[in-house]
Amino acid sequence: MRNKIIIGNWKMNKTPSQTESFLQEILPKIKQSSSVVVFCVPFTNLDIASKLLKGTKANLGAQNISWQDSGAYTGEISGAMLKELSVSYALIGHSERRQYFGETDTTVNQRTVAAHRHNIIPVVCVGETLQERQSGNAQDIVTNQIKQALKDITPEQAQNTIVAYEPIWAIGTGVTASANDAQEMLKHIRKQLNNLYGDIADKMHLLYGGSATAANAQELLSQPDLDGLLVGGASLKVEDFSTMANIV
Ligand code: PEP
Repeated sequence: MRNKIIIGNWKMNKTPSQTESFLQEILPKIKQSSSVVVFCVPFTNLDIASKLLKGTKANLGAQNISWQDSGAYTGEISGAMLKELSVSYALIGHSERRQYFGETDTTVNQRTVAAHRHNIIPVVCVGETLQERQSGNAQDIVTNQIKQALKDITPEQAQNTIVAYEPIWAIGTGVTASANDAQEMLKHIRKQLNNLYGDIADKMHLLYGGSATAANAQELLSQPDLDGLLVGGASLKVEDFSTMANIV
């Protein structure tokens, strides 16, 4: 039985002081949640968030991680830096990074390898564009993204890797994939993972992301291959995100 995971991706939102008031308000509301809850906050908020999450059941995540460990890489943040702030998850290859910041399947793979080097659980994001879906290529695109992202990842590491299916046409658009469409792709993803890692695929957590809200969370979460949600917009609101964490 895989437990459920709900991850909030704050993107470039909230200052440290806003983070403090948000977490102070939401933490008591999610105390009873039986799921794994992760807050992926901007780098500048990791310090305050790590202090506030200490001693709670909630976990801290980053929105990226460098593939290098230190050195002349201006603007990058290494796994060791994250680890010292108690970061235990890192989003990798979010479609916004692929679209605006030149992230490629190769760099997604390098970051995934680096995350494991630092015992940080990578949350590898994959997903197709609307055009790719309409032309019937969605599964092939996602298969390729997964194979490349997980190159050189051992079976033991794979078991501690999360794959988030985020169809690009559903992110921040208010258009959610139907529960059936999400399940169909996640089942396909698990099959690909089975080809790569055998039975370990059944232990891996697969998430859906794309305009998930308190209103559609229940239906999405009832799908057999969907082990949790990656939530953007709705994770910025205490009521919405705490409701989702408690549904999970
Ligand atoms: C995301 O950015 O990962 C995401 C799923 O965003 P939203 O929930 O706003 O569509």
